[in-house]
Amino acid sequence: AQEVVSEDEGIAVAMGYKADHTAVDTAKWSKKAGADGAQQQCTSCSLYEEIDDEFGLCPLFAGKRVHASGWCNGWVA
Ligand code: SF4
Repeated sequence: AQEVVSEDEGIAVAMGYKADHTAVDTAKWSKKAGADGAQQQCTSCSLYEEIDDEFGLCPLFAGKRVHASGWCNGWVA
């Protein structure tokens, strides 16, 4: 299986990626503080391609897996 995205790698830091969407700093990432913020996570993002219950693929993190429970600032309804 593909490597799992680390929160510490460059693009993840730049995009505010967190493996646990509830851990996102909403003071810094205002999109996540929006009215629909609580339901914003990879599984509700239109870029997400599910692999299994835990992981999926995302074009912003090509070749790696993101957490189903994750979030980044690229989230789109
Ligand atoms: Fe998850 Fe969407 Fe961000 Fe990709 S763009 S990491 S699927 S929230």
